[in-house]
Amino acid sequence: MTSPRILLIDDEPFQLKLLSQQLLNLGQAHPVDACTSGPEALLVLSAPTSGTRLIFLDLNMPGMDGVELIRQLVALDYLGALVLVSGEDERILETAVRLGRAHRLNVLGHLSKPIRPETLRTLLELWSSQVPEAIRAAHVPYGAAAVQRAIVGGELVNHYQPKVDVATGSLKGVETLVRWRHPDDGLVFPDQFIGVAEQHGLINDLTHIVLIEALAQARRWCDAGLTLRVAVNISMDNLTRLDFADFVLSQITRSGMAAHDLILEVTESRLMTDCRAPLDILTRLRLKHISLSIDDFGTGHSSLTQLRDIPFDELKIDRGFVHGAAQNKTKQAIFTASIDIARQLGMQTVAEGVEDQVDWEFLRQQGCDLAQGYFVAKPMSAEDLPIWLADWEARRPGLMQT
Ligand code: C2E
Ligand code: MG
Ligand code: MG
Repeated sequence: MTSPRILLIDDEPFQLKLLSQQLLNLGQAHPVDACTSGPEALLVLSAPTSGTRLIFLDLNMPGMDGVELIRQLVALDYLGALVLVSGEDERILETAVRLGRAHRLNVLGHLSKPIRPETLRTLLELWSSQVPEAIRAAHVPYGAAAVQRAIVGGELVNHYQPKVDVATGSLKGVETLVRWRHPDDGLVFPDQFIGVAEQHGLINDLTHIVLIEALAQARRWCDAGLTLRVAVNISMDNLTRLDFADFVLSQITRSGMAAHDLILEVTESRLMTDCRAPLDILTRLRLKHISLSIDDFGTGHSSLTQLRDIPFDELKIDRGFVHGAAQNKTKQAIFTASIDIARQLGMQTVAEGVEDQVDWEFLRQQGCDLAQGYFVAKPMSAEDLPIWLADWEARRPGLMQT
């Protein structure tokens, strides 16, 4: 295999020189090619010996612009990484990044001109750390039979991610996140099997197992003196059978927990055509004081319409509007608008994807109720929770200052 090469595409020769120099300054050792137009770049890329693995592409070029070139890269089956560069508004760059990703291109991110060396360094580090990720993404999807075996064979385990009070830092509850302890592949994440379970009529069995175990665990914590509200994710496909509400209610009674201690997080991955059963079930659950949370708010079908139609009492702001919101005007506007809506409707707010201290401080300023994310804790097994909690209690005072 030829050694990886980097290709710079920009119509301004000065910019090409500048970027090559910046790459050199950062100690980047791969050979660099430069082109001043899209057609020229396509010639380089379609050469049989082309070893291009990373492209820096300027979006504004006369003739074939960056967006057109993205389309050509897809047609060429370009498998390397891509960084988009522009002097335009940040939002245009972000949209172009999304477009590239929608085409399944490996878009590392974007660079605004003038290019800052730190941002360039971060992207290069991301590029060099990426190989194992690519292998992970290429994994063959699991089939229905395998997922069914996992459900019946007891291979599913619940992990729990803490939710803490932003104002005081105290632990309020956990979100249950299912994992599959696969005999060969190790711990498999839900994005690899929830969709399969939904499509093949297995999601009811899956939810039942997850819910029963989550309630049993909540009970064990409660008996040990730790009262936590436990959230369980349910799929819209769970809401097609009217007996779902009875199932949930009977399991709460069996566990001895209070209805108020259970939160059901609802996401709608596709449009519901008949909303009678979901409305019937969700209204009954709310009448019995079980909490309903609108998950991933602001994405997909998790929308204002749902907020109007379903009696949710918790709103989870999607992590796409949380991490980095302090530094991004668009995210910030969506974040604050979501908090505002929730407040007006008397709902509790949870921010997911709180990844660093800047996110955390931002939440404190905004008056969001609860925080969830890697900055606080990653999802963990039930046994690990007490260890994490001791550590968190030690960290907490430092996070409450200023
Ligand atoms: P979700 O309900 O929105 O859960 C949050 C996801 O974000 C989890 O991914 C969690 O590990 C991840 N996460 C938490 N904090 C951070 C952070 O700071 N940064 C980033 N980048 N990610 C963070 P996970 O566990 O892979 O779950 C993915 C989705 O699978 C969940 O999204 C949920 O929709 C679904 N899911 C999980 N368990 C179940 C289940 O038992 N039933 C159903 N129907 N769906 C489930
Ligand atoms: Mg959730
Ligand atoms: Mg979510």
